[in-house]
Amino acid sequence: MRRRGAEPALERLRERIVDCRRCPRLVRYREAVARRKIRRFAQWSYWGRPLPGFGDPRARLWVVGLAPAAHGGNRTGRIFTGDRSGDWLYAALHRAGFANQPTSVSRDDGLRLRGAWVSAVVRCVPPANRPTTEERDRCLPYLREELALLDRLRVLVALGGFAFENLVRALRDGGDAPAVRARFAHGAIVPLASGRTLIGCYHPSQQNTFTGRLTEAMLDDVFREARRRAGGARRR
Ligand code: SF4
Repeated sequence: MRRRGAEPALERLRERIVDCRRCPRLVRYREAVARRKIRRFAQWSYWGRPLPGFGDPRARLWVVGLAPAAHGGNRTGRIFTGDRSGDWLYAALHRAGFANQPTSVSRDDGLRLRGAWVSAVVRCVPPANRPTTEERDRCLPYLREELALLDRLRVLVALGGFAFENLVRALRDGGDAPAVRARFAHGAIVPLASGRTLIGCYHPSQQNTFTGRLTEAMLDDVFREARRRAGGARRR
């Protein structure tokens, strides 16, 4: 099938990301988690590599998280797939018309995004969800490249303060700085110099969803706003 637009470049970027070994600590950790596994996934052959972005190369919405989960994306090989955060995220994207199904359990589960792209600031699972500044800096060029390649973007949703701060960094580097002071808050709307919009959203981690800090209604409000600003018909 002939590929259009940014697809070939995104595919080349994907190949570079999945082969990346720039961070020795994270390479050791992601591979150790993949070898050790946990009991309920003992039968899985873990991915154990970096995770590229996933979705529609013609995306108008980009959702960015922190990093893959040890037994979620690091196991399944797709971002926000196979863990509770992903359950929340893709169900919300489905309700907003950006995904063809509400569930995300494996790379071959049939999930397709329409008008949306999902990735993370750091592409390898970090111990305790905490990449070092050096690891973050080594991985940021991938975020910048995605930003340049996703040339139809209208809205960026940052899941959590870390994603927000680093998206702002990548946007500034790409010449699309916030037009106002950018401070992370759930529902914060930040206009960008290009006319695009950055929206802050609490991360759908269990820490937030179990405690009620983030509810489905709050997530729906963010993606309803994203849909409104992204434009395009709502499709299922
Ligand atoms: S975190 Fe990023 S830069 Fe570091 S090894 Fe993984 S993919 Fe490469």
